[in-house]
Formats: sequence, structure tokens, C-alpha cells
Amino acid sequence: MKLEELWRAYHERLDANRLPYLECKACKHRFYYPRMLCPRCSSTSLEVKESDGRGKIFSLTRIQKKDGGRTTYGIVEFDGFRIYCNVLEDGKADVGGDVSVAFVELKGRKYPVARADA
Ligand SMILES: [Zn+2]
Repeated sequence: MKLEELWRAYHERLDANRLPYLECKACKHRFYYPRMLCPRCSSTSLEVKESDGRGKIFSLTRIQKKDGGRTTYGIVEFDGFRIYCNVLEDGKADVGGDVSVAFVELKGRKYPVARADA
């Protein structure tokens, strides 16, 4: 699969509110960011799969803005792969907490974010 095909496969899923990831057919390693080689074993035999969208917070960073607003970023682990993304939360989310994937639209493209489960 070429990189453009990979991106197309990703955008099709993201536009439909589904979270894609890649799984290496050789070593079963899972990762999110599209690339042509498995980062673990360098195999080019990769398959696009879809996560069930449920994950756990691996790390959190809260940024307090001067205007009183706050932004939260985190590393979130879904089905065996991690992504760095915004975390939508009420200030009570913590490491190890459950999240569900949500999607935000930015300049005509959808991107995954994590929403802390209540
Ligand atoms: Zn591999």
C-alpha cells in the first residue's frame, strides 16, 4: 500500500467517525500514525484496522490560559496503540481513566480526540 492510499484509508474512516490504526501482519505491533514500515520490525505488510474507540489515559497535561480557559492534552491508549490528542474533560480526568474517542473538524478534516467518560 502506498502512503497516499494509506492516508485515504485513514481519512475515509475518520470522516465517518471511526478510529483507524495500523497492525503489522508480521509481528502484530499496532500503531496509529500512518507510515510504510512497521516501526518495530520494518515489515511493509501492514493492515488498516478500526478501533472500538474506547481507551485509557496514559498521561495528561493541562494548560491554563491567561483568559481563564484550559486545554488538556494527553497520550491515550486505545486497542494496543497510543495517540497524542486533546482530551475533553471537566478537570476530573486522571491517568488510568476511561475515555471514548470523539472527532473534531478542523479545516474540513476530522481528527480524533478523547472524551473523558463521566
Ligand atoms: Zn512488525
